[in-house]
Amino acid sequence: DRQEWALLQAVLAAELQAAKALTSQGKAASYIPELAKSPPDALGISIMRADGAVLAEGDVHLSFTMQSISKVFTLMLALMDNGERAVFEKVGKEPTGDDFNSMLKLELVEPGIPFNPLINAGAIVISSLIAGRTPAEKAERILDFFRSLAGNEELDVNESVYRSEAATAHRNRSLAYFLKDNNVLTDDVEEVLDVYFQHCAVQVTTRDLARMALVLAYDGTDPITGLEHIPRRFVQIAKTFMITCGMYNASGEFAIEVGLPAKSGVAGGIMTLVPGRYGIGVIGPALNAKGNSVAGVHLLERLAQRHDWSMF
Ligand code: GLN
Repeated sequence: DRQEWALLQAVLAAELQAAKALTSQGKAASYIPELAKSPPDALGISIMRADGAVLAEGDVHLSFTMQSISKVFTLMLALMDNGERAVFEKVGKEPTGDDFNSMLKLELVEPGIPFNPLINAGAIVISSLIAGRTPAEKAERILDFFRSLAGNEELDVNESVYRSEAATAHRNRSLAYFLKDNNVLTDDVEEVLDVYFQHCAVQVTTRDLARMALVLAYDGTDPITGLEHIPRRFVQIAKTFMITCGMYNASGEFAIEVGLPAKSGVAGGIMTLVPGRYGIGVIGPALNAKGNSVAGVHLLERLAQRHDWSMF
């Protein structure tokens, strides 16, 4: 492992530069207006190992919002709050093959529950399952959970991105009202969406993501502090969803080319991990047609193949 770390250190700058050329092939998301302001040619990566040492290259000081990456953690919090049975009465366990915000298959799983917790419809249902008397209390519990995993008390909601999404989320609203009509959502729709928009807008750096991923790489226990944050079973469930659904409808290709549990977000972040070894955070706001960071995916493919990281 020492040897691999030294090798990684030696090649990371060159791999990042090579991948950076691909940023011109993508575009930053603009359906959330505020995200269109992200620097399209940025690319950065942080790799953290169990003793807390970090390899950082490129735009690692750039802050960005977690977006869909947050869904992995709200899922685990909902599992801790409600148990496995109650959660999977409301969301399924299967990939869709459709876009993350698709409405196509909502009717298909009995009785109208979303296919999985990582598509928007599923993650909105998960937001409704977070314990708390008010939306503000739910959002605060989520933020506290993220802060403890990242070992960073300063994590917070980016208010401009949050407001930008809340003002334009017509599609998520229609998904949520449809779920309400099916009685999958029982709370006030706007209140559930408010919790969802807030956790999507939590602002991080690649280092925060690497640290959060490290906890998953060590099955829920932070190897740096020794604190057990999440029961192993729930981490296992989350990592399985990351493999099958984490990169949206490019998850199959990513599993073949990289072979690691990963989750992307439309701000251009990717969180991935090498089990029992590293937590990894990547940012590259230019997205490919499937909504994943075009250069970020390429960089991870190169690193995983070069270092034989695939789990398969
Ligand atoms: N907040 C975003 C949305 O609901 C998250 C989507 C994503 O990152 N894919 O559209």
